[in-house]
Amino acid sequence: MYTSTETLYQLFSQGAKISTDTRQITPGCIFFALKGDKFDGNQYAADALEKGAGYAVVDDEKVVADKRFLLVEDVLSALQDLARHHRKTFTFPVIALTGSNGKTTTKELIAKVLSMKYNTYATKGNLNNHIGVPLTILSIDTAKHEIAVVEMGANHQAEIALLSSIALPTHGLITNIGKAHLEGFGGVAGIMKGKGELFDFLSKKKGTVFVNSTDDTVMDMVSKRRAFGEIVFYCSESSKVNPELLQENPFVIYKSNGKTISTHLPGSYNYDNICAALAVGKHFKVSDEDANEAVASYQPDNNRSQIVKKGSNTIFMDAYNANPSSMAAAVASFGRMEAPRTMVILGDMFELGEAAPEEHLELGKLIAAEKFDIVILAGSLMQHALPALPKAYYFPDKFSLHNWVMDNPQENTYILIKGSRGMSLETVLDRLGKS
Ligand code: ATP
Ligand code: MG
Repeated sequence: MYTSTETLYQLFSQGAKISTDTRQITPGCIFFALKGDKFDGNQYAADALEKGAGYAVVDDEKVVADKRFLLVEDVLSALQDLARHHRKTFTFPVIALTGSNGKTTTKELIAKVLSMKYNTYATKGNLNNHIGVPLTILSIDTAKHEIAVVEMGANHQAEIALLSSIALPTHGLITNIGKAHLEGFGGVAGIMKGKGELFDFLSKKKGTVFVNSTDDTVMDMVSKRRAFGEIVFYCSESSKVNPELLQENPFVIYKSNGKTISTHLPGSYNYDNICAALAVGKHFKVSDEDANEAVASYQPDNNRSQIVKKGSNTIFMDAYNANPSSMAAAVASFGRMEAPRTMVILGDMFELGEAAPEEHLELGKLIAAEKFDIVILAGSLMQHALPALPKAYYFPDKFSLHNWVMDNPQENTYILIKGSRGMSLETVLDRLGKS
């Protein structure tokens, strides 16, 4: 006999926390024995109970030893269904965000702005997938929270539709459509379709969408779906939220209602993220003053567009992730920087499939147009950029790059570091000398 969602919900509503990791067991929690590529959570269920979990949800009958093991047909579906059940118990707004780039930054900014007026719950870190979204929903405290902001990530079709069926967003925002996860989505048209599933959901439910009206692709996606409850445009002159971008070097400074606001966010691409947060804030009646204060105090973390001083050098740490669109945005923004001397350290962009050689060559051309003083490329894919950059230093792996960096100390140089997560280029930072 399988345990029903109702039974699981009863345990959950009595206060049991949810855990999917035996390293993070809290007393009395419900452990969900999920499967990964290299592990089967069922094998850890007994361990979770020994560490203090109250129950273990499993889908392998063989591991069931006593009543604390709750057998379900599929553990992942059970977790998702539990989240669906919880979502139906509250009616306050849920704002879902997806897009190719800037989801976490925009989510954090929106959460900061909304927190000025509401008890806001937002996705923790980057918990944005088929496991993270249910966990996010299950972390919402209906007695305490008043509004939620949910990041949704996807690298293939039908994923955003699934996440929407769990989070039931009332409001939505697509940050942009770029070349991220090209491989899984099958090209840019595939990305538009996949991310568009959020708009599909919201147009069916007469929800509200926030739309960057300077983004032709997102505008095109909106115009193809006409049944939204409301469309709130931002960033363009005709929209209600359109602060004036005064400066982007190194940080975005903008003017709003006569006031000048300095931020800790470098790069003009962050201007779009800020506009999105201000638009959501205005829609939910957060005062302009509070919204601007929230944006001004936000500090990016986790190597997302962070600025670090190392001796006389200024490092733009953007090593969190990379894809053709975010690389192009970062290179263009860095190229506009007024700097005594410039150096870029760029690593491979992954998940591009067949497009990888061409996309790396295209990036090479963009870099060549910017006339940086030193160009350093690392990773096997980056060799495809070399024809456009005959003077670049090329290292097939991160380790040969580390050696060069340590042997060639720089001074008074602005340095951009960016590459895909798998390249973990943040490791270069320690080799760049003392802070
Ligand atoms: P992930 O897919 O890993 O969840 P994300 O969409 O949440 O990524 P962020 O973590 O906010 O994105 O930002 C990652 C990087 O993307 C930043 O460090 C920056 O280089 C770039 N980026 C941020 N905002 C934008 C934007 N609006 N347009 C293009 N690139 C952006
Ligand atoms: Mg993210």
